[in-house]
Amino acid sequence: MILDDILKILKEKSEDKAYTINNESYSYKQLYKFVCNIYHFLLKENKEKRPIIVYGHKEMYMKATFIACSLAGMTYIPIDESIPNQRVEQIIKQVNPSLSIGKDISKEEIYKIMNKEDYSEINNIYLKPNDIYYIIFTSGSTGIPKGVKVTYKNLDSCIKWLKNIIKIDKEVIINQANFSFDLSVADLYLSLVSQSEHFIINNDTMLDFNKIFEQLKKSNANIMVATPSFIDLLLLDKSFNKELMPKLHTILFCGEKLLKSTISKLYSRFNNIKIINSYGPTECTFAVTSYGINRYIDNDEDIPVGIPKKDVKIYIIDENKNLIEDEKIGEILITGESVADGYLGNIKNNSFIQYNGAKGYLTGDLGYIKNGILYYKERKDKQIKFKGYRIELTDIEKNIQKLNYIDKVIVLANKNKDNKVINIVAFVILKENISKSELEIKYDLKKEIPEYMCPKIKIVSSFPLNKNGKCDEKKLLEEF
Ligand code: AMP
Repeated sequence: MILDDILKILKEKSEDKAYTINNESYSYKQLYKFVCNIYHFLLKENKEKRPIIVYGHKEMYMKATFIACSLAGMTYIPIDESIPNQRVEQIIKQVNPSLSIGKDISKEEIYKIMNKEDYSEINNIYLKPNDIYYIIFTSGSTGIPKGVKVTYKNLDSCIKWLKNIIKIDKEVIINQANFSFDLSVADLYLSLVSQSEHFIINNDTMLDFNKIFEQLKKSNANIMVATPSFIDLLLLDKSFNKELMPKLHTILFCGEKLLKSTISKLYSRFNNIKIINSYGPTECTFAVTSYGINRYIDNDEDIPVGIPKKDVKIYIIDENKNLIEDEKIGEILITGESVADGYLGNIKNNSFIQYNGAKGYLTGDLGYIKNGILYYKERKDKQIKFKGYRIELTDIEKNIQKLNYIDKVIVLANKNKDNKVINIVAFVILKENISKSELEIKYDLKKEIPEYMCPKIKIVSSFPLNKNGKCDEKKLLEEF
């Protein structure tokens, strides 16, 4: 399984670059030392093998700790520093971890531990196929993040499938996503199993266009794992082209609708680029379908999200879970090896189900199948993708409602003609005799939810009603 392959590569102790961040590179030889030191530290400190929180922002110790945890038979939970403390506390409460690396064990301490020169080798891999490899927390409709438990078998199947599609060996892969999002799982592990360099774009760089372009040039990267939103952002600048990244040959997309305009711009800037669209939720371990797009897509055609990997089945079903015929739209149900072990704790959900004797996940996505290829249409609920991030609008609502001066709130997403979210707006009614500005509300909200989830705030005195006496959401948005 992949941990055997990873350990074998690490034990070669090659001087090839394994990880580059902030213009500093670490070799596979160094990575092996880091992993060995952390592995032995964890085995000593966490005898019960309880879950480990790994907190930070893409630092080298994070990736080294992920590998060490897995080899030592411990589940890890990645948490990015951009997540506000209140939300981190909600996660810690649910996980009850043994240790938080980067928090209880400070960054300085973990660096000291992992840099010890006289280290012992690793001779045992403790993780079993059905053990939980990692838990990734995602936006929950209750206002509290929910943890998706992904097994070693799930991840093993995903990475082997991806490696077969992309066929990489000792190349350079760009990372865009924070490690607390499952998009990063693809570049984290593809880089390891192919002995490639994992080239990190961190949050600071992300905030500055010049820095991003400088880093992309320096990377000499061959492969990018990205959301369409990120690539659209880069495409705004004409210099995102073959001259900037002469060796770029593949972009693996996942996470949201890929647009025709993105594809045609990419073809005009990078001839021969391989564009792979992939689809899947965190609950099904990164992705379950993929499609190599090798031509311009006609205006009246939908963009395929792809053909399922061999060990999963995709069904399109109606409300009674009956199969719907080909080319008709219904809910996408995924069964098979990629379906995760469920949510952490006692979260009420009807999404993980048994179907035809197999483990299944009801995605809440609407789509259809034509000639064996899956097409995505839209969501059937209030979950959205904004700038590539998965957000439950009710998660935002619940957190605004918690502010003690709010009477009522409705959170809505403004979409353009491509059905892409352009902004999120929270319409709020304040309690009587309260005077608060929109800025003050935003300030309070930022303590509860991450920046990327924070909507524009609009204070209103009442909600307009439609004929049925319900809030007229369309009118609210029009008036905004
Ligand atoms: P996440 O758990 O963050 O990966 O988000 C999963 C959701 O993103 C899916 O349920 C879809 O709604 C959406 N999604 C993922 N990949 C695609 C894609 N290729 N095209 C359209 N939507 C996608």
